Amino acid sequence: MARIVMKFGGTSVGDIERIKTVARRVKAEVEAGHEVAVVVSAMSGTTNQLVAWCREADLVHDAREYDTVVASGEQVTVGLLAIALQAIGVPARSWLGWQIPFRTDDAHGRARIEGIEGAELLTRMGRGEVPVVAGFQGVSPTGRITTLGRGGSDTSAVALAAALHADRCDIYTDVDGVYTTDPRIVAKARKLDKITFEEMLEMASLGAKVLQTRSVEMAMKHGVRVQVRSTFSDAPGTLVVDEDEIMEQKLVSGIAYSRDEAKITLVRVPDHPGIAAHVFGPLAQAGVNVDMIVQNVSEDGRATDLTFTVGKADMERALAVLDGARAQIGCERVDADPNVAKVSAIGVGMRSHAGIASQMFDALARKGINIMVISTSEIKISVLVAEEYTELAVRALHAEYGLDAA
Ligand code: ADP
Ligand code: ASP
Ligand code: MG
Repeated sequence: MARIVMKFGGTSVGDIERIKTVARRVKAEVEAGHEVAVVVSAMSGTTNQLVAWCREADLVHDAREYDTVVASGEQVTVGLLAIALQAIGVPARSWLGWQIPFRTDDAHGRARIEGIEGAELLTRMGRGEVPVVAGFQGVSPTGRITTLGRGGSDTSAVALAAALHADRCDIYTDVDGVYTTDPRIVAKARKLDKITFEEMLEMASLGAKVLQTRSVEMAMKHGVRVQVRSTFSDAPGTLVVDEDEIMEQKLVSGIAYSRDEAKITLVRVPDHPGIAAHVFGPLAQAGVNVDMIVQNVSEDGRATDLTFTVGKADMERALAVLDGARAQIGCERVDADPNVAKVSAIGVGMRSHAGIASQMFDALARKGINIMVISTSEIKISVLVAEEYTELAVRALHAEYGLDAA
């Protein structure tokens, strides 16, 4: 007998038929003798709609009320799945974040989990009941509803698995595992049997939606055994494992992309100490995350261009902040471009091999794709390109590094 957390994403609970399919999958694990807790997302499309309504009501809205609205999607699916389970003879009960409770900090819209009370759930699981837990949501220290950031149900599931000391956390989704790149844009993407925590962390943070970044961090920290697999087939999924569990290692194991980028350039910034602080200090204070940064030397050597990227949703806010700091920065002009994408190659093999970056630049050049910004770390290389070239760049790199399926 094992203790399992099963998580089902939005597409998997997208309509009543699918919720019934999920109920049958859960029943099969219960009948195999396992103790099971389930975490679900909102029906696909629901959270997007709820977010859009908040924006429509007021573009700059109260983050606490945003959470009240967007957390509602998961309330529907936990109730429906509990009903579907009961209908096929599986004792089940729904749980919202505050009922467990799933304690978080008060960073509304991107809250971090601080602790989960698992005792009551464990008692009930011991009696054969299946808790159906709302993903994505928690409760703040002052008792308000919080949400964990988009895609946060993955993190709910891994955190619950850690709190319940589960043997496994199975993430059921609409693809049958983690692929070498998004299988929806590269038909030749290959499913990986295993991927290391480090690579999965990079893939997730560089745009592969299949797992939320924080869920991978959490799994790494608590040693949770995570498997990504399909709700709609019995094909074996992808295990996220420690590096020493992988025998043969490719230099590059995956390509990720993110269209959630915007590029900002400060034109002709005076070249003297303290400028970077004047630019990035106010942005940090406003909660704008800055990602890639390059500073060019201009022709006369006195004033330079400073280019960096922020999340697309933060672009307007960043521009407003920079406008406020304009006098201190003293640049000639601020340019902004939301039509950019970040394309990245990831692989632990890069640690010990040179030449992977130049191979990337060659492959993109052959396709006539201009690189705007480059950033590297130990196990990844990212480039910023015009958004219209995203798919072309991903496909070119996937082929270049020998990842295409035969
Ligand atoms: P869920 O609603 O189940 O949480 P998501 O949409 O959040 O599902 O994540 C699954 C999606 O992630 C897939 O449909 C796929 O398009 C996308 N994806 C991006 N990169 C990858 C990858 N490397 N491997 C698998 N899926 C990926
Ligand atoms: N429903 C939430 C979202 O769409 C959480 C999740 O799906 O993981 O972001
Ligand atoms: Mg998801």
